[in-house]
Amino acid sequence: MITEFITCGSLPELLVTRNRLANSCVLIAGGTELNRLGSPVAEKELAYVSLSGLGLDQIQFKDDGLYIGSMVTLQQLLDAEEDPLWLKEAVKGAGSRTLRNMATIGGNIGSFRDDSYLLPALIAAKARILTADVDEQGVLIEEDVPIREYTEHASAFNGSCITQIVIKRLDRIVLTKRYARTVQRRPDAIISFGAACDGSALADIRIAVGALGTGVARLKEVEEGILTGSLTTHEEILQVVKKTTSVTDDITGSAAYRQYLVSVTIADMLARCKQIAEGGTCT
Ligand SMILES: Cc1cc2nc3c(=O)[nH]c(=O)nc-3n(C[C@H](O)[C@H](O)[C@H](O)COP(=O)(O)OP(=O)(O)OC[C@H]3O[C@@H](n4cnc5c(N)ncnc54)[C@H](O)[C@@H]3O)c2cc1C
Repeated sequence: MITEFITCGSLPELLVTRNRLANSCVLIAGGTELNRLGSPVAEKELAYVSLSGLGLDQIQFKDDGLYIGSMVTLQQLLDAEEDPLWLKEAVKGAGSRTLRNMATIGGNIGSFRDDSYLLPALIAAKARILTADVDEQGVLIEEDVPIREYTEHASAFNGSCITQIVIKRLDRIVLTKRYARTVQRRPDAIISFGAACDGSALADIRIAVGALGTGVARLKEVEEGILTGSLTTHEEILQVVKKTTSVTDDITGSAAYRQYLVSVTIADMLARCKQIAEGGTCT
């Protein structure tokens, strides 16, 4: 239950308010996760501190990459010419335009949902997260962290505000696939594969999966196996996926089915990435 809805005139004011109210408040962006039916947060008595009106809704190209404000909505991401195609593809996982008009990229990351529309693709793309916070004396603390660090150590960033999402490596190949019987249904699996081109070879591979019942995760052993050449077929990939991921049975299918889906898709994506790298068009 919302006890108070607080708007602020500037980011420093928001951070000080957030710091002062600590655990008795929560940041609100589009509100689609916080207020959705069954949301555990909505049951608590909390003040909502709004991120609206602080200028965090811009998408900008700078010398070192694409800067996306945390309040940019999923619909803005779909409409913007600047965005890479893989990001638009990931956004399409949110099938409702009404929801896309409200839901933000920062809120999607901040929700840490197992079936996150964007987290797997952003991890594969090696996106970076810019955060802001204030200390006890009100001194501004800004951090620039890789998204993998942000997701792996989420509690360390509890309380800080995501201000921007930065995509510096715009030349990476990123492929993403969301399996779902209908776009509004819970996905069977979400798989994202990212790689850089080193000449015609693949380098710096990042594979992230979601919607398997245990949170968005990187498949580090599979990345390693592909890079060293020990994993090439989907059968080989499947053995490592089985050994290293815990997947639950759910309404979308059994754990075995979803592990199979993940491995076949990774093998297909690997083949596609190799084709792209060999063709010399690493975008
Ligand atoms: C019917 C329905 C289905 C949905 N299905 C999915 C789905 O399949 N996959 C999925 O990923 N999501 C789903 N969602 C949830 C939601 O729509 C998205 O995750 C959305 O991107 C959340 O963004 P928001 O701006 O609405 O976040 P909010 O609801 O405003 O906030 C969500 C969380 O993120 C935190 N937060 C927001 N902005 C920031 C920031 N800048 N810095 C730090 N923390 C922040 C908030 O404090 C809160 O904890 C669904 C929602 C509904 C209603």
